[in-house]
Amino acid sequence: MGSISLQSVEKWFGDLQVIKGIDLDIHDGEFIVFVGPSGCGKSTLLRMIGGLEETSRGKLLLDGKDVTDQPPHQRGLSMVFQSYALYPHMSVRDNMGFSLKTAGAPKSEIDDKVNNAAAILKLEPYLDRRPKALSGGQRQRVAIGRSIVRDPTAFLFDEPLSNLDAALRVEMRYEIAKLHRALKATMIYVTHDQVEAMTLADRIVVLEFGTIAQVGTPKELYERPANLFVAQFIGSPA
Ligand code: ADP
Ligand code: MG
Repeated sequence: MGSISLQSVEKWFGDLQVIKGIDLDIHDGEFIVFVGPSGCGKSTLLRMIGGLEETSRGKLLLDGKDVTDQPPHQRGLSMVFQSYALYPHMSVRDNMGFSLKTAGAPKSEIDDKVNNAAAILKLEPYLDRRPKALSGGQRQRVAIGRSIVRDPTAFLFDEPLSNLDAALRVEMRYEIAKLHRALKATMIYVTHDQVEAMTLADRIVVLEFGTIAQVGTPKELYERPANLFVAQFIGSPA
């Protein structure tokens, strides 16, 4: 289960309101992409869902349960960022299993989950290497693997590919689409890359200064943009 509901959600930093009353229902298993220009509130909204930012007003429900005031580790979500600090002194296997180990999981369970994640991400040949012996794309896969082992109800990605070069970004985009098909988990993915948004999303949420300009399938946004802002952002003729 991984439905997520935002109800009149607001975020204020002091006197500055950066999220201005957002309502959104995300279905279990859906791939949702937040797009919009820099500073429009994508990361803030994602961090609020993950519990890394407090919600100033409104409610956040996971599977119908109010989690607005719940700390991040109780929400059962996993976040993947563009900077994926791996532990340099640990093998890939230990990096991927670390959170389970600190949670006290038995070794057999850790091994099973790490092996399973490694198979999905094609990391099996690299499990005994240190991060510095991996390419950028492989390191990002390890970062994703770290989140898979925890069986999250939803994945939250904040521009996870923006530090990779163009060719690798395309390759990893396919990997993430495959991952979504394999896990059938809810994914919320932040990007400012229109192509990434159009190819990955079941539905795209276009954000404009802390409000939703439009929500729809890539096709709907392309064919029937709600306004000039969406049209320009999605890149269709207005
Ligand atoms: P995006 O991810 O879309 O680029 P952000 O969510 O990072 O946008 O930021 C939205 C707005 O909130 C920006 O104006 C940013 O400067 C502001 N902001 C983000 N975090 C903080 C913070 N901790 N304190 C004050 N302002 C912040
Ligand atoms: Mg951001």
